[in-house]
Amino acid sequence: MTMTPTLPRRPRWRSLALLALCLAPLLWPLQRLAEHYYQEELASQNRQTLDLYVANLLGTLHRYETLPQILGDLPALRAVLADPIRLETLTNANRLLDDICAQTGAEVMYLMDVNGNTLAASNWNKHDNFAGRNFSFRPYFSEAMQGRLGRFFGQGTTSAKRGYFFAAAVRDGDQVIGVLVAKIDLDHTETLWGKTPEQLLVTDHNGVVILTSRPDWRFRATRPLSEAERDAIVAIQPYPTTTPKPLRLNPDAWLTQTQAIPETGWQVSILAPRTLVDRSVSTVLFIGAATLLVVMLLLGLVMQRRRNYMDRLDFEARARQELELRVAERTAALEGLNSRLKTEVLEREQAQQELVRAQDELVQAGKLSVLGTMSASISHELNQPLAAIRSYAENAEILLDHQRTDDARSNLKLISELTGRMASIIAHLRAFARRDRHAPESVALQPALDDALALLAKRRRAMAVELVRDLPEATLWVQAGETRLRQVLGNLLANALDALTEKANPRKLWLSAERREGSVYLTIRDNGPGFSSQALLRAREPFFTTKTRTQGLGLGLAICDTLINALGGELVLANHPEGGALLTLQLRVATPGAALQTSEDSSA
Ligand code: ADP
Repeated sequence: MTMTPTLPRRPRWRSLALLALCLAPLLWPLQRLAEHYYQEELASQNRQTLDLYVANLLGTLHRYETLPQILGDLPALRAVLADPIRLETLTNANRLLDDICAQTGAEVMYLMDVNGNTLAASNWNKHDNFAGRNFSFRPYFSEAMQGRLGRFFGQGTTSAKRGYFFAAAVRDGDQVIGVLVAKIDLDHTETLWGKTPEQLLVTDHNGVVILTSRPDWRFRATRPLSEAERDAIVAIQPYPTTTPKPLRLNPDAWLTQTQAIPETGWQVSILAPRTLVDRSVSTVLFIGAATLLVVMLLLGLVMQRRRNYMDRLDFEARARQELELRVAERTAALEGLNSRLKTEVLEREQAQQELVRAQDELVQAGKLSVLGTMSASISHELNQPLAAIRSYAENAEILLDHQRTDDARSNLKLISELTGRMASIIAHLRAFARRDRHAPESVALQPALDDALALLAKRRRAMAVELVRDLPEATLWVQAGETRLRQVLGNLLANALDALTEKANPRKLWLSAERREGSVYLTIRDNGPGFSSQALLRAREPFFTTKTRTQGLGLGLAICDTLINALGGELVLANHPEGGALLTLQLRVATPGAALQTSEDSSA
């Protein structure tokens, strides 16, 4: 089958890639959404952590806030302030402060006189004890001296430990007689912070980092310091350095949440690295992109399948169309052929009819031509007896006039004989000229031969002719007419007897028959004189005879030949090598039929 070649299509994947490119911006809102979501998530998480931390920090500070105020009334401490030189009271105070520290968890507690000199301290027996040291430069001292609660963050100048200092005045009536200080260790508040990616940042009123989970950020300024602040730092030495280095944090790298603690002037911040969000966002983006890709692939696959399906439908439709076309063409061709065949058959039938008619006409024409040649002979044959009859009749008249009755009678007898002869001629001509329309029938040969022999039996016996029969037992069926066949056989046998009259005894007549290749051959042989050479050539001509006028008309073989030819057979005239005539009658074999045939016109 010849299909029209389809144009190579553009690869679908290219258009899919284009579509993907168009859809890719969809990932941007997804990114924004994911960012927003994860930031919120992180923020709320961090807020909780921050709250917790701030609460913890405040809890720690509040626990110690009132401690110096309350403990300032203790008699052991007052005794030291009253008499700082007495060793016993000093020892008592030192021990007391040490005990209180142990019980409350404060790092150090110490008692100062109004000049800022440390009289007693909880760490009196340690190598870095505060005893004898002056802390008047610390702001908490002056605040306490002014009757307020002294607060201060700073790194211990002796211990190098960061702590928060609460200081309260010890009064005697209205008069301030000393200052009691409690230092709380804040180092441990850093260690509370686990090893998380989020970082902690506590800055004081100067914006300097005092507590942080990142040691490298410690004591660095998150903002530029003013002149006054720098002076103050130098004066009160809250940090290990008097010039804190700046801390520059990339605001894009960190998500910062801050909570202020107003009472300390601190800012507590939690810094979450933006990468935390970015990682989640990129995961979401990746999933989104993968989903998009999968959707694209599925879409592509569906499109591909659909295209294949359409192609197949198209192909099938075209194939069907082509098949239908071919069937239609074939049908048309067959119809044409059929009609041609029909006309051909019709033409053939017409031709056959014409042929039959032509044949018929030919036969008839043949007969007519024969009749033409015969008519001259007939007129001659009939005129002769007619002339004789006239003269005999005229003679008889005259003889009767002369009363010669006997002579007249013999004349009349001659006339009668002549009319008989004329009737015979006419009868033969009728048989010859009759247009025989009967189709050949199945006729049994032997019975027809027996009939013909029976008619001649008397004459044959009188002539003492020996009959030699060589016929098969089985009936031979031939295509013929019953009457015509008997007429032919009778003629041929009569001719043989006629010939044998010219010969002395022994007279013999042989009859034999055989079936060969769809034909039956009957031979009739006599041991008479045989055909003369002229008779062999002309015996079939009408009125050819070697006999006297009374013996023969010369029509026998002419009629036999015509009848046999009409039946599709043949009559062959010859002489036997041993002398005598040998006639062979060939007829077509017929299917065995009914023994009696009565359909044919017997008037012939
Ligand atoms: P007719 O018998 O009236 O002469 P036919 O047509 O039957 O006419 O025969 C034509 C001629 O053929 C005969 O006159 C005879 O010379 C010859 N003829 C026919 N049969 C035989 C025969 N058996 N033997 C010899 N001659 C024959």
